[in-house]
Amino acid sequence: MNDLDNIPLDAVKGVGPARQKLFGRLGVRNVAEALRYLPRAYSDRREVTRIAEAQSDLPSLIVAEVVSVSLRMLSWRKSVLTVKVSDGTGDLYAAWFNQPYLKTRFAKGKPVALFGKITVGKDGRLQMASPEVELSPSATSPSPHLHRIVPIYPATEELSPNVIRTVMHRIVAQYADRVTEFLPSATRGSLRLLSLSEAIRNIHFPESLSLLEQARRRLIFQELFLLQCAAALRRKFVDAAVKDRPGEVRRPRDRADRFLSRLPFPLTSAQRRSIEEIQRDLASPHPMNRLVHGDVGCGKTIVAVWAVLRCISSGEQCALMAPTEILAGQHFSEISNLLNEDKCRTALLVGSSTGKDALRRQIARGDFDLVIGTHTLFQEGVRFRRLGLAIIDEQQRFGVAQRLRLYDKGDCPDLLVLSATPVPRTLCQTLYGDMDISVIDEMPPGRLPVQTERFSSSDLPAAYARLRETLCAGNRAYVVCPKVEEEASCERASAVETFRHLSRGVFSDMRVGLLYGTMPPLEKEEAIQRFRNAFLDILVTTTVIETGIDIPDAAAILITNGECFGLAQLHQMRGRVGRGGQQGYCLVVADPQTDAATERLRVFESTTDGFRIAIEDLRLRGVGEFFGTRQHGLPEVPAANIVEDPEMLQLARKEAFGVVKGDVPLSPSEKEALGAELQKTYGEKIRLGLV
Ligand code: ADP
Ligand code: MG
Repeated sequence: MNDLDNIPLDAVKGVGPARQKLFGRLGVRNVAEALRYLPRAYSDRREVTRIAEAQSDLPSLIVAEVVSVSLRMLSWRKSVLTVKVSDGTGDLYAAWFNQPYLKTRFAKGKPVALFGKITVGKDGRLQMASPEVELSPSATSPSPHLHRIVPIYPATEELSPNVIRTVMHRIVAQYADRVTEFLPSATRGSLRLLSLSEAIRNIHFPESLSLLEQARRRLIFQELFLLQCAAALRRKFVDAAVKDRPGEVRRPRDRADRFLSRLPFPLTSAQRRSIEEIQRDLASPHPMNRLVHGDVGCGKTIVAVWAVLRCISSGEQCALMAPTEILAGQHFSEISNLLNEDKCRTALLVGSSTGKDALRRQIARGDFDLVIGTHTLFQEGVRFRRLGLAIIDEQQRFGVAQRLRLYDKGDCPDLLVLSATPVPRTLCQTLYGDMDISVIDEMPPGRLPVQTERFSSSDLPAAYARLRETLCAGNRAYVVCPKVEEEASCERASAVETFRHLSRGVFSDMRVGLLYGTMPPLEKEEAIQRFRNAFLDILVTTTVIETGIDIPDAAAILITNGECFGLAQLHQMRGRVGRGGQQGYCLVVADPQTDAATERLRVFESTTDGFRIAIEDLRLRGVGEFFGTRQHGLPEVPAANIVEDPEMLQLARKEAFGVVKGDVPLSPSEKEALGAELQKTYGEKIRLGLV
């Protein structure tokens, strides 16, 4: 949508600095973002109801004439404004409370349209409390609020639904035509998809229910199509690349296999199968491009370490990227330990590392065999002497786009991607359409499913008592809070607050520690080590421990404000406990306020099956959010349809691979538009692949 993200919101009539700020809080800072801010629901206000035929408790649209206006002051702040209207079939009393100034808007004999729920008063009168109102309704300039299918946007206390709708109506009218179409016309034609402008107009202010459906279809399709184009281009790129293999003779697997025989446990057969698949990739002339996915705790790290050894035995370097510094630190100490006998020179490079320049020089010189880090590893101009293998751990945290972007970095090393979001086959094709896939569908023997128990916040003492029970056998526990510092506006418990509260109160007899994301790195490291080495009983923390942390003795996790977390996030956190074969407990304290939160918690409680969680998560979240492809300037659509309608996914895949193969003809301008859109999310190289 090119220029639209350069148009600030206050360029729109009716938006001044104050509203600009309020919209900013909704993540809407410019026109492009506004077009992407989609209604959460719609209200059908097309039919006018005659007062005589009105049914109580149904929201109805009444078009009538003002009969009388009366304002009653109840106290100096309280008042009731009653407006009696009639449409010739009957009378209706509309009432507004504590807004005496509205009185001047109504005049006897003037036409008026009202929308609201009709109720029957004690005296039998028909009433409407605080209806939406339109004065001098006319058919020629339809209001955004009445006589149509009306969008209901997610609103805030300061920004009413009406204000948002008014502003959105202006933006859509003025700018929807200016978005750039990037779907090839052949694709749009054969699938009968709306143009982007039409889709945007109708997703906001639908002309009909059928157009609303078509708008949805187009928006979902485009998201999947772009993703699949990127995947197809990536696949093309990998297939064309030939890796200069150091040669099988010099890459013996003895060392890697000896490492496996030293482990205190045998591999599961799923782990062994993945290793053989990796072995086959490494023997092929093309770069490896493999995803290993499996539920939390299935043992992906060992598989990755095997690949590391396999790679460094032939003199190549490896990079391992983790989503958080804490996880990178854990990998660093664990893998250093595991590879102690193998003389693997390992470095840790994260954002907060000191002496990064020196480290970078050493990496470029080839002083390290394995470099473990966060995304900084691929960002801050890190160059390797001979990068043979890149591993991405917990890929689901990075998003598909970020992975595809890696290819923008130049070389084509072997790539091994680990993901803890197990997904069904069809979805897998979407998320990882460019990759070969290994599944670890088996847990190490002896694991017990974690027991989940729900508490409401008024039951907090009971939850603490339960936590104490799980602790008495010498076990350790996490307590997770959603935010670090108290935010005045929301009442989320803060880790710091909770820490004080627990260590001085309920658990004053226990050793309680604190760990959160913005803590100084050394303190973070110390906290996690103390917990790992049993110098702490309870670790009060935040979502920093969500991914990857492996402390086998941790038996319980208490999650406060459970309603604030996403489903996958909850599942990940639950995966932190019971990893050592003991019974794990997950205690969730939650007061869900929305249907979505209630539903998330219901699913979470009812299953520990990662596959089901992933599907439900997708259903409850947006497509782009789930895939991590959420684009700047493109509307975000709910993903439920993908789960119910995998056919759309197949269509998008077929079409995208067709475009990339050249089966679907593109004009130069179409190529440019599609390329520009792809580049925004997936980087320059992806765009070049198209031409
Ligand atoms: P994830 O797949 O979530 O990354 P990890 O690789 O961290 O899981 O493994 C979880 C735990 O299971 C670790 O403590 C690891 O040592 C252990 N583990 C891995 N494979 C096996 C196995 N085959 N048998 C027993 N324990 C295993
Ligand atoms: Mg892991």
